[in-house]
Amino acid sequence: MQLIDIASLYLNELQEQFMAMDEPKYRAKQVYEWLVKGIKSFDDMTNISKNLKEKLKLKYYITNIEIEKRLDSKLDDTKKYLFRLFDKEYIEAVLMKYHHGYTVCVSTQVGCKMGCKFCATGKSGFSRNLTASEMIAQIRKIEKDNDIRVSNIVLMGMGEPLDNYDNVLRFLKLVSLEENLNIGMRHISLSTCGIVDKIYDLAKENFQLTLSISLHAPNDSIRNMSMPINKRYNIEDLLKACRFYSKKTGRRISFEYAMISGVNDTKKCAIELSERLLGILCHVNLIPLNNNDFFDCNLKKSKDSTILRFMDVLSKNKIPVTIRRTLGKDINASCGQLRRKVVKSEVNTRGNICKIR
Ligand code: SAH
Ligand code: SF4
Repeated sequence: MQLIDIASLYLNELQEQFMAMDEPKYRAKQVYEWLVKGIKSFDDMTNISKNLKEKLKLKYYITNIEIEKRLDSKLDDTKKYLFRLFDKEYIEAVLMKYHHGYTVCVSTQVGCKMGCKFCATGKSGFSRNLTASEMIAQIRKIEKDNDIRVSNIVLMGMGEPLDNYDNVLRFLKLVSLEENLNIGMRHISLSTCGIVDKIYDLAKENFQLTLSISLHAPNDSIRNMSMPINKRYNIEDLLKACRFYSKKTGRRISFEYAMISGVNDTKKCAIELSERLLGILCHVNLIPLNNNDFFDCNLKKSKDSTILRFMDVLSKNKIPVTIRRTLGKDINASCGQLRRKVVKSEVNTRGNICKIR
């Protein structure tokens, strides 16, 4: 029999399963409280009888992830974690300190299938989806390691959250519960490359989370070259879904736009982008492209003056825009690069994939 991932269950599911095993409901609550504390083994649950522990071991397993490596920025309080999973897969997460509290950037998959040309995660291919409990464990481990409470979550680590929709949805519901991490939806951002069907599904949940769209191009011809997902869902369909999301939830959409020299950073691109976004309740985040030192990428980040000119055009066209402050510059805090370095067999197996032709 396949064991059940107990820390991915909601309390009411655990209670139902306990009652089906002829165990009282309150026992489920006791076990749940241990899981929320991030316990590693049923044996450590001191108020649970030996008999029940043995029974639980036959039906369930407890997720365990270990810190393999930690890089601490010398420039700010950013810390980058490499976690080893039970099956010797590796994922990354990042802790960032802001004036409003601590934010963790969580991974949702081991690798990613989407193959964006500028992205280190996309370059490493895809191994598997993470479970809800593996996503929660990243936050718990970081909280314990630093003796802090995390107040904000961004789903911007390795992987495409909407390509692991069911587990991500479970994660979102679990972390926002009072008996779990108690982090409200308004403190969560989910970033997607634009899986349109799932944006509609998410909108229907009516969560108050911030939806970030990795747009990175003002038109289909540029986006088709850098983001293969655009061939499945083009910009028009994506923006239609964004309008729906914003109307349904009342939330502002955040558009991420990594500035790539000579590719998407011209004045013409800025004008085109302004025209496309006009009328959408949104905000544009311009991101200096991270040059991904660990692989042979020929894409270069735009000059600061070019980014400022781009920002100016958007502002003049009444599109709210900011330039993203880069934290943890010295430890390369964007995800996917540390894993590539550690998982040596994966490095450079796909040649010049990041060239935009
Ligand atoms: N798969 C999701 C979330 C993970 S990627 C998504 O694509 O949105 C998190 C963010 O990092 C995305 O906005 C992504 O486009 C961006 N990103 C990836 N590689 C980058 C790079 N080299 N420089 C700047 N941003 C990058
Ligand atoms: Fe995947 Fe996001 Fe990287 Fe694209 S940018 S390859 S969707 S992780």
